[in-house]
Amino acid sequence: MTDVLRIENLGKSYGSKAALSGVSFAVADNEYVSLLGPSGSGKTVLLRLIAGFELPDAGRILFDGKDIASVPAHERGIGFVFQNFALFPHLSVYDNIGFGLVNRVNAPVTDADALRSRIMAMVELVGLTGLEDRGVHQISGGQRQRVALARTLVSQPRIVLLDEPLGALDANLRTRMRGELRRIRSQLGVTFLHVTGSETEALAMGDRIVVLDNGSVGQIDTPDTVYNSPVSPNVARYLNCYNLFSGTIGGGTFSDGAHSFPLSGTPKPNASPAYAIRQDLITVRPSNSPLGSGEAGFTATYLASEYTGASFMYFFRAVDGHIVEVENHLSHRAPQNLDVNATYQLVWKADDALVYG
Ligand code: ADP
Ligand code: MG
Repeated sequence: MTDVLRIENLGKSYGSKAALSGVSFAVADNEYVSLLGPSGSGKTVLLRLIAGFELPDAGRILFDGKDIASVPAHERGIGFVFQNFALFPHLSVYDNIGFGLVNRVNAPVTDADALRSRIMAMVELVGLTGLEDRGVHQISGGQRQRVALARTLVSQPRIVLLDEPLGALDANLRTRMRGELRRIRSQLGVTFLHVTGSETEALAMGDRIVVLDNGSVGQIDTPDTVYNSPVSPNVARYLNCYNLFSGTIGGGTFSDGAHSFPLSGTPKPNASPAYAIRQDLITVRPSNSPLGSGEAGFTATYLASEYTGASFMYFFRAVDGHIVEVENHLSHRAPQNLDVNATYQLVWKADDALVYG
């Protein structure tokens, strides 16, 4: 696979505050890359630099191996889909999709038949057949998002940057559009760099995930590797499925002051020690049940549960006030009857924990 986009040591500051520093990664031709990070981690700034809406303070952006520093935004061959997908309110679906082709500076499409066939191919691809003559105020939010996507794809960009493209949709539609986006991308064979603040979206969509952590790259890996082996406590935190403890390491144990857990294996290098156990790898037992060999755990007070459809989330409070979340997948285990304010033993295999330090 060849790299269509290569980011080298990119930096950008506003005043004295660095929004991005030392960001490097490459995106292969025909790849779907998710860019995951919490709010303020620099995701939008990064896309704006790649698109050419702003200039970096440091580093280079290579497109097909060529530095594009001096190429203006509209000549980069890069498409951009914004979160709020502002469409032209007075134009039809058809005219919104065709607008860029007709009005661009370089090689506008003037032949009516050629224009029509390109627009209609896009209308079909994004599933809007029959709606092309509607005004954009006469279609649903999900359909407007498809128009925004079609409007970008119709100019045949080599790479499409999507900034939280599903953020404005309701949860149902968001899930459906995930599948649609993947289908559309693979049908066109175009490269997508998809920014999201949602870990489930990043894991579901990307061939690979780039995790942004405070303006730097925290991890670049396949969804499977990021999910199972986050390289730092911060990456684990952004995945929203780990219980994290900070403390000290010594004598073969990790201790957070209130609890200690036996260590197995060598900690992943990190500035400060931390211990992470995935929410779905914890089991809940009666408070007096002893820990078996190879197990770690502690007692905690049951507070509440939340039903998510496929699982129950149980919330516990440890003696030091730390809130611990346990996920019970209903496909693995029937829901448990837990008494609020009662004490339980939370147990996991020491081998399943990730230790940093
Ligand atoms: P997100 O990951 O939520 O998209 P952004 O990339 O928008 O985050 O922002 C990253 C950081 O850069 C934030 O601290 C933000 O306040 C700052 N920032 C972004 N754009 C500007 C700007 N034009 N002027 C000053 N600060 C900015
Ligand atoms: Mg943003």
